Amino acid sequence: MTDAILYRLEPTDLAGHRCTVTLTIPEPDPAGQRVSLPAWIPGSYMIRDFARQIERIEARSGGRRVVLDKLDKHTWQAAPCRGPLQITYVVYAWDLSVRAAHLDETHGFFNGTSVFLRVAGQEDKPCLLELVPPRRQDWKVYTSLPEAPGHPARAPRHGFGMYQAPDYDALVDHPIEMGTPQVASFEAHGARHELVFTGNVPNLDLERLSDDIRKICEKQIAFFEPRTRRAPFLDSTDRYVFMTMVTGDGYGGLEHRASTALMTSRADLPVHGRPEQSDGYRNFLGLVSHEYFHTWNVKRIKPAAFAPYDLERENHTRLLWLFEGFTSYYDDLFVLRAGVITRQDYLRTLAKTISAVHSAPGRFKQSVAESSFDAWTRYYRQDENSPNAIVSYYTKGSLVALGLDLLLRQESRGRHSLDDVMRLLWTRYGRNFYRGAPEGVPEDAMPGLIREATGIDVGEFLRRYVYGREDVPLEALLARQGYRLTWKTPSPLPSLGVKTARQGEEVRLATVYEHGAAHRAGLSAHDVLVAIDGVRVQHGNLDKLLARYRPGDVVQVHAFRRDELRCFTLKLEAPAETECVITPASEPFPAR
Ligand code: ZN
Repeated sequence: MTDAILYRLEPTDLAGHRCTVTLTIPEPDPAGQRVSLPAWIPGSYMIRDFARQIERIEARSGGRRVVLDKLDKHTWQAAPCRGPLQITYVVYAWDLSVRAAHLDETHGFFNGTSVFLRVAGQEDKPCLLELVPPRRQDWKVYTSLPEAPGHPARAPRHGFGMYQAPDYDALVDHPIEMGTPQVASFEAHGARHELVFTGNVPNLDLERLSDDIRKICEKQIAFFEPRTRRAPFLDSTDRYVFMTMVTGDGYGGLEHRASTALMTSRADLPVHGRPEQSDGYRNFLGLVSHEYFHTWNVKRIKPAAFAPYDLERENHTRLLWLFEGFTSYYDDLFVLRAGVITRQDYLRTLAKTISAVHSAPGRFKQSVAESSFDAWTRYYRQDENSPNAIVSYYTKGSLVALGLDLLLRQESRGRHSLDDVMRLLWTRYGRNFYRGAPEGVPEDAMPGLIREATGIDVGEFLRRYVYGREDVPLEALLARQGYRLTWKTPSPLPSLGVKTARQGEEVRLATVYEHGAAHRAGLSAHDVLVAIDGVRVQHGNLDKLLARYRPGDVVQVHAFRRDELRCFTLKLEAPAETECVITPASEPFPAR
């Protein structure tokens, strides 16, 4: 790979969270080479402007300084030069999330979109990456990026040295973890999987994690490739890596073509010798299953708008209900299909999702197709009014998937299901995506694809529940399948029509629901509750105060707004029936 673009990454200042990157371009554009850092990271649909963490940057060629002109927030242009061009820069890496880079004395985590400049016009060239160990540290390397075969400085497995990628898109799609984490590995249908846990987690039950996660991976591999059972990432590398950062209260995940970066809370991970299964652990398994499902759905089956990604700006698609919503439907479903959770636990989780969707009035103002399109400025930039104004393409998208699955099963008398749609998407768009056929799903293709996979016309369903703003009729669809969906009030207390948040010992209004009691009374989000009928409101006593009233009672509410005391007359309302319960209809209906 003599014409390969060479990146050298060295953690140079662990205490100061700085790494130094040297980029060598063998054949720079003779008119002056442009380089830029991505504005966003695929999978997290928000402009983040990673280039703002570049602290120093300079260019040299043949031992001489080359002028670097900054053209915009993330683009530089080098003056014309002949020989290889070398650009050296320092990146500040102190973002504790799955989206950027994080470096200290305990570990380093790097997403390529935060550290590797893109060489304009040479994105298709192969890349070499030299990982240099920090001084005085006994670290290992965990990444799905393949070691450079045949290279004299080839990295040993889990070691520092030379890695390689076929192009820039691949280089930035294999995040890198380095440090001394707790690790385990297993094979699923013959393919290697590594579990990497960074952070102090005493008595971590790695054996149980391996067992449970292997079952989920095997189910998903066999689902998409029932005949060959070939893991999807074998088109890029020989392993899949789950890299998990464990913190006190973290939660999140980001998918990549052969790995995922996860964050989870210490308390959610299993403890040696404690066989019980907590809600937190089930949550973690759902997250693992979600990101793994993305290996097919969004990392290979992609919207046409992402094929290829434009890393300079927002990439709009109306299909995130398919890529995130369907993935959210299948995540817990595969934990169930793998036999790792009970059907009862699955139904409880499903009921929670339905409740969450139905508690937000914004679902009548935005469709999941619109929510997908506006992900960049609305879903990813939520504020106090979001529950009134938007719908989640994750949660409502998963209900669309459930509704479609039930509809397809019923209309075909059990011969077809949503599974057939996923497998058609996979064979048509996914299987060969990184093998020279990078075609994405066109924005308007789904009705035709579903009909092709199942013979059933779902145009009306999509028009009402995906492009329209109606609730998916799950009561009726579930009833035909033998399940009863009922609604109850989450609490018997009269309601203020707000969501509250704790602020020290005070109670702040996080959201005022449109047309609710507080909205009608004139209260606003961010108001701090002071008293109800003259009795002080404090964190922990609001429910006790409300328990003395009935719906319809009129109360005086004192609140601070911008530190000014205001008084509102509020008529308490009956609590809404927003909590959903799903029961197999044959079982006796549980008492309210
Ligand atoms: Zn996702």
